[in-house]
Amino acid sequence: MASRKVHVLAFPAPAQGHISPMIHLCKFIAQDPSFTISWVNIDSLHDEFVKHWVAPAGLEALRLHSIPFSWKLPRGVDANVAGNVGDWFTAAARELPGGLEDLIRKLGEEGDPVSCIVSDYICDWTQDVAAVFGIPRIILWSGNAAWTSLEYHIPELLEKDHIFPSRGKASPDEANSVIIDYVRGVKPLRLADVPDYLLASEGREVLKELAIKRSFVVKRARWVLVNSFYDLEAPTFDFMASELGPRFIPAGPLFLLDDSRKNVVLRPENEDCLRWMDEQEPGSVLYISFGSVAVLSEEQFEELTGALEASKKPFLWVIRPELVVGGHSNESYNRFCERTKNQGFIVSWAPQLRVLAHPSMGAFLTHCGWNSIQESIANGIPMLGWPYGGEQNTNCKFIVEDWKIGVRFSKRVVQGLIERGEIEAGIRKVMDSEEGKKMKERVENLKILARKAMDKENGKSFRGLQGWLEDLKAMKLDR
Ligand code: UDP
Repeated sequence: MASRKVHVLAFPAPAQGHISPMIHLCKFIAQDPSFTISWVNIDSLHDEFVKHWVAPAGLEALRLHSIPFSWKLPRGVDANVAGNVGDWFTAAARELPGGLEDLIRKLGEEGDPVSCIVSDYICDWTQDVAAVFGIPRIILWSGNAAWTSLEYHIPELLEKDHIFPSRGKASPDEANSVIIDYVRGVKPLRLADVPDYLLASEGREVLKELAIKRSFVVKRARWVLVNSFYDLEAPTFDFMASELGPRFIPAGPLFLLDDSRKNVVLRPENEDCLRWMDEQEPGSVLYISFGSVAVLSEEQFEELTGALEASKKPFLWVIRPELVVGGHSNESYNRFCERTKNQGFIVSWAPQLRVLAHPSMGAFLTHCGWNSIQESIANGIPMLGWPYGGEQNTNCKFIVEDWKIGVRFSKRVVQGLIERGEIEAGIRKVMDSEEGKKMKERVENLKILARKAMDKENGKSFRGLQGWLEDLKAMKLDR
């Protein structure tokens, strides 16, 4: 007899920034006994995933599966390797649907048919797989709502020749002077603030084709759960809901659903840093992390070490083994470590959710990945934006110009060297200046709103998620 539970198949894009919110969502689903969940990795990630997998409370029954795919995401995703990213997604759309279909068929034969697929926006091919089985697909949008509207306007952006421009990449002057003011629900932004991968010249045709497809496929999803909160981006949520209907909902910050503040991660976390933080003054620590993918040149790394030392601020820095292109374990780095041994703490991976919640946190120098930004906001921590690739430049614009809760530097790391003096001045601005105090006040207000959104009594995101689960249950009864 077929299972009477609603069987959710979760397929996150294979990267930490997509796995984190999907796990939080699964934990939420699993609290309701009407549901059962299958988690699907791609082969090349599966071993790494299983190696670090410790089932979080509530997810002990999560079933792990993998489907064949040998590609890995290129390390150091930036504008220059956007072409590779396009190739990766093209290969994914070609190779993965067959494996996912086989798995869904097998689960059905075993008496546990899949009721719906929850997948990332960028895995748009899962919509066609869902259609093969006549089941709905739900998008978990691991970015902000403004990004959804930008993607939704891809046809218009193309028509105006603003993205994937036919004349080639825009010059820096043009990128800074052209203003995009027709993306509904989003404040005007410079061309330079449009997500990098939409401006890429390398791999342009492939990326363009993928982008057009995505902007249409989103309309076929049964729900779009956005990992952001209404009060942060009300006009965008209103616009997108007016286009896609009430099933376009704010559903974040998802990490707030879990009081343990633990991420499921692909690397071992060093918790010693929390004890080091215990010894620091309240509000004094500068936390530095570039997420799971971004990289630095050796020269840029040196400038950053120089700025940190000169700032004299206590710092906690995540230096992943592959963070510095060409490696960082040289003599000058060793000297830096020696000189700053009483000033800073270095780890190769941090328990970031607990770091950001620590009373000694002062400011966050971040690569502007959306999870990191949202985690920072929900803990009331102002930021220094150091965007790398993807849509990180767009996120940085929101931090600095729209929400005014952080600073950015005069150029991007992908455009040239940010010198130590400028980095140090940025640190002082956020942590010591009057303007920095105002940023802190604003981000503290946003923290309150973020927490209100996930309030279990009446939070808008929380209620939206509950409504979504009710819809899935009703749908199951209908079938
Ligand atoms: N993260 C972490 N420890 C670290 C660095 C990052 O737990 O040392 C987590 C962070 O909390 C976030 C995710 O990894 O949930 C990174 O996602 P984000 O969107 O910020 O950046 P990405 O890695 O996707 O570029």
